[in-house]
Amino acid sequence: MPYVVTEPCISVEEHACVDACPVECFYQAEDQLLIHPEECIDCGACVTECPVNAIFEVSNVPEKWKTYIAKNMAPFLATPSLPKAISQDKWEAQRRVTGSPASRYYGKYGKAPRVAPKERD
Ligand code: SF4
Ligand code: SF4
Repeated sequence: MPYVVTEPCISVEEHACVDACPVECFYQAEDQLLIHPEECIDCGACVTECPVNAIFEVSNVPEKWKTYIAKNMAPFLATPSLPKAISQDKWEAQRRVTGSPASRYYGKYGKAPRVAPKERD
């Protein structure tokens, strides 16, 4: 059974799961990442990487987030599908580039770009 990304990803979305996935089956939706139900090989490697525990095996999705099962599947029934999610490094780099997808994403949730430790000194 595939894994599913649920509500806690929304507004957090920091792509650690993308780096952990051996088959690159995370995709970029408007407000969160989604897992392609046919590409996921059910390895579970992404689950512990998620800082907000947003990822569940489909049969273990909490009742309050069951609608996310359909949300993870629906876009992949359509053509074209969603774009692939980019790695955490690339996403973080984008974050401080005005107008980039990552910058627009966090702007939507009112989050300022992260300041790298070197820049804070
Ligand atoms: S690790 Fe993945 S699922 Fe978890 S919040 Fe970050 S982008 Fe979302
Ligand atoms: S369970 Fe494995 S294959 Fe499926 S999304 Fe997570 S890391 Fe990728």
